[in-house]
Amino acid sequence: MMRRARRTKILATLGPASENPEMIAKLFQAGADVFRLNMSHLSRERLKERVEMIRAVEAKFKRPIAILADLQGPKLRVGTFEGDSAMLVKGQKFTLDADQASGSADRVHLPHPEILSSLEPGHTVLIDDGKLRLRVKSVKKGSATTEVEVAGKISNRKGVSLPDTVIPVAAMTEKDRSDLEAALDAGVDWIALSFVQRPEDVAEVKKVARGRALVMAKLEKPQAITRLDEIMEISDAVMVARGDLGVEMPLEKVPGIQKRIVRAARRLGKPVVVATQMLESMIQSPVPTRAEVSDVATAVYDGADAVMLSAESASGHFPIEAVSTMNRIAEEVEQDQSYWSIMRTLNAEPEATGSDAIAAGAHQIADTLNLKTVAAWTSSGATAFRIARERPNSTVMALTPSQHTARRLALVWGVHPIRTKDASDIDDMTFRACKFAMREGISNVGDRIIIVAGVPFGTPGATNMVRIAFVSQEHAAQA
Ligand code: PGA
Ligand code: MN
Repeated sequence: MMRRARRTKILATLGPASENPEMIAKLFQAGADVFRLNMSHLSRERLKERVEMIRAVEAKFKRPIAILADLQGPKLRVGTFEGDSAMLVKGQKFTLDADQASGSADRVHLPHPEILSSLEPGHTVLIDDGKLRLRVKSVKKGSATTEVEVAGKISNRKGVSLPDTVIPVAAMTEKDRSDLEAALDAGVDWIALSFVQRPEDVAEVKKVARGRALVMAKLEKPQAITRLDEIMEISDAVMVARGDLGVEMPLEKVPGIQKRIVRAARRLGKPVVVATQMLESMIQSPVPTRAEVSDVATAVYDGADAVMLSAESASGHFPIEAVSTMNRIAEEVEQDQSYWSIMRTLNAEPEATGSDAIAAGAHQIADTLNLKTVAAWTSSGATAFRIARERPNSTVMALTPSQHTARRLALVWGVHPIRTKDASDIDDMTFRACKFAMREGISNVGDRIIIVAGVPFGTPGATNMVRIAFVSQEHAAQA
């Protein structure tokens, strides 16, 4: 039986240390609910292969698994140097320009003309994950002269971050567009877009995806934080991408931003993933640091939908241990009474819609009667999203005829998705909900469960009923 003993989901990135059928199965068994495929490193053929491996594991364990394809986005880099690198000293002038000649300690090519023309005096230029810092002093056509504020070695093709500059490039590069098509063809469930700056960036991906996959905005630029509300509004989910966020913003601002994003996402009922360096030391070590355990626990206590592993599961020495460590931390936190009091205190008010009224009602009934299952019949998954937003202390068992929906819901807090044919009438709706609650080990004979559905059946967006039903011997017999 593969029901998780926790509400918080675990997202594991696949990479050289884990991208084979045996490891994927082990990671799933250890607790991974969603697998992330990093498109920076995957050809179309490799992507298809990985997706097939995950689908085989899904079939083997008969549990829906979500696949997230992560688009690289507009990552900026400097050109190359004479002798591969140069040493910059504090206070010196250094020029970024449009000249393709090899760089030196005085200048280097910045192969993005549109960036050169949007730099302004005063802007910060960070090189190599922020290890070097330059300040723009003057600009003219095709070049920007900077002063070195934090010195060090600069070498070929190092990454460039521009925290102050709104970059006038499309949300997706040519590579991203082709990766997106490949990911949609391969049938992934979620698409993540890196370096989102504007709501239009997310809109562009959604326009191409046309509902074939849901879209997650990676929040890793200060420009995105400035327009957080609009970006959250248009995204299907968000990721607190602390790696790049911590390069582009002062590190000490990241925890506050994380709290703000998680809270905003919970208010809107959009899944939120906390990512990067959660168990970083487990790349090398089978046990995490106390601080890392505390960091994972904090994300869980805040009510995040999912916590993510990057290099820990993609290229580290202990991918399985990293997943099982996250699993144990989440299970432990969720058994703490104070976890549930935090979920209650920060509970989002229902919006003035029928489905929110019903979600809040179902939550209230579950609390009042102390029931373990809220069964939601849903085709698009929307009903399950809205009930999960309530953060009820009961399992949200989503019953859906759609494989897409079942897989997408694998990312959502507290949702245990089950694919089954649509209910034909009220008796069938009730009977099978009870049967599944029993079979999945959530409720027992004699327990009551809550059922949420929309009648007539098969019409999406019409959540309009709540029912309380008894699980009986009859259900047990068929379960
Ligand atoms: P990345 O995104 O691992 O694709 O860079 C996450 C982050 O920046 O935190
Ligand atoms: Mn990133």
